[in-house]
Amino acid sequence: MSVLVVGTTALDSIKTPYSENPRLLGGSASHAAVAASFFSPVSIVGVVGSDFPEDYIKLYQNHGIDLTGLERREGQTFFWEGEYEVNMNNRQTLETVLGVIEDWLPEIPSSLREKQYVLLANCEPKLQRHILNQTQNSRFVIADTMDLWLNIARDELMALLKEIDCLVLNDSEARQLTEIDNVVVAVKKIHELGPKYVIVKKGEHGSILSTPKGLFIAPAFPITELTDPTGAGDSFVGGLIGYLASAGGEIEDHFRRAIIHGSVTASFCCQGFGLNATTQTTREAIDARVTELEALVRF
Ligand code: AMP
Repeated sequence: MSVLVVGTTALDSIKTPYSENPRLLGGSASHAAVAASFFSPVSIVGVVGSDFPEDYIKLYQNHGIDLTGLERREGQTFFWEGEYEVNMNNRQTLETVLGVIEDWLPEIPSSLREKQYVLLANCEPKLQRHILNQTQNSRFVIADTMDLWLNIARDELMALLKEIDCLVLNDSEARQLTEIDNVVVAVKKIHELGPKYVIVKKGEHGSILSTPKGLFIAPAFPITELTDPTGAGDSFVGGLIGYLASAGGEIEDHFRRAIIHGSVTASFCCQGFGLNATTQTTREAIDARVTELEALVRF
């Protein structure tokens, strides 16, 4: 079964203490779609401007990503510039230019409306809801979000939570959403807001999945060189939904393995700038790391 991913298709400029990398392919939908493509067929819904390089279109195509829902418009592609501190955990957004995505609310092609697994990757909740309204027959919907939307679009986000199956957010966002410090208690509160499944990401410390059957604590894969964590969260959720779509059947039966596959896919993302390392990996390399991770946590 295939996955529909909506989110930002961006040009990212990423600074670290060691290097500067201008105009890389980025965006929540790009990272998530490439990650999902290791497991399932993927369609992307996004918009790019006239400055979007043809090579990046080819990169999507090399991963078999269906581009029927990728619109090209006159103007500037969504641009994001971020800078990491020496510890590579803290980062600051230096600039965001919405460009062609500003007020973009597309009618998606009818061929994309029947997709069973839908990922509303990080973007404005209004856009996430607009896509959700057009994919009413889907079987499983995951939404990702960020602190910005909790600050400036809280009501839209709250409305979205009532209509999705699973919310993914990081631990500080879970606290911000619920005003509860203890993550396990915060998760219970998030279930009350709508989603049956909640995943709280804790960066290099892994993630927590909460389902009606209880909790699952998932580790992150321990990498030895961290080059650029940009897009790790998007790769995590992309790998996760791609794996769920490939498994089919009951969601509960596959969720734990799906999280581990998401976690491992994200570990590759962190080892290169932008999508450089993710695009170099293979399903075999991902599976090998999953086996390594299983050995590390078995007791
Ligand atoms: P992450 O590191 O998982 O937070 O994802 C970083 C990606 O999110 C980058 O590729 C950015 O292009 C994209 N991004 C940054 N700001 C936003 C935003 N406001 N809305 C959607 N995507 C964004």
